[in-house]
Amino acid sequence: MKITLVRGDITEQRVDAIVNAANSSLLGGGGVDGAIHRKGGPRILEECRRLRETRYEEGLPTGRAVATTAGRLRATWVIHTVGPVYKKSEDRSDLLASCYRESLRVADELGATTVAFPAVSAGVYGWPVGDAARIAVGTVCNTPAKVSEARFVLFTEDVYAAFADTLSANS
Ligand code: ADP
Repeated sequence: MKITLVRGDITEQRVDAIVNAANSSLLGGGGVDGAIHRKGGPRILEECRRLRETRYEEGLPTGRAVATTAGRLRATWVIHTVGPVYKKSEDRSDLLASCYRESLRVADELGATTVAFPAVSAGVYGWPVGDAARIAVGTVCNTPAKVSEARFVLFTEDVYAAFADTLSANS
């Protein structure tokens, strides 16, 4: 799997699947979630509502992933994953790693070959950026998948720099 980094807006990416840093309600939020629903239009939210009525009545658990249509985005699917809220007193790294593993598993199930990831948990959920980058890059590098390109799309310069440092340390 090729790993690439882009500084930019994930909603502008032409890929098979865009990963959303959602919350467990699946009913929309701020940050990247808000941007995806705004640009993708109401069909994404409709499918999320149906998921809440069927498979995920209690919400999507942290560390899991589920796909919907991508609506008007230039992608076929949105893969929603719920990152953990950062907590100093508790190591939740495995839940963050699970977001990337599960998203890749769902992407493989869909037959997606190009997948764009945001920096899950590194915004409102407060994960320190260097650590979030290390977990993201390390997990994607070490997860066997049929996906041919995993593209990290980083919105701000500091997050981009953290991912670039981690990737060069890994290669
Ligand atoms: P979380 O609640 O998981 O922390 P956020 O959406 O608050 O999710 O932030 C996750 C990361 O996504 C942050 O680094 C934030 O800057 C970034 N982000 C926000 N909007 C976009 C966007 N349109 N494209 C890519 N990344 C984005």
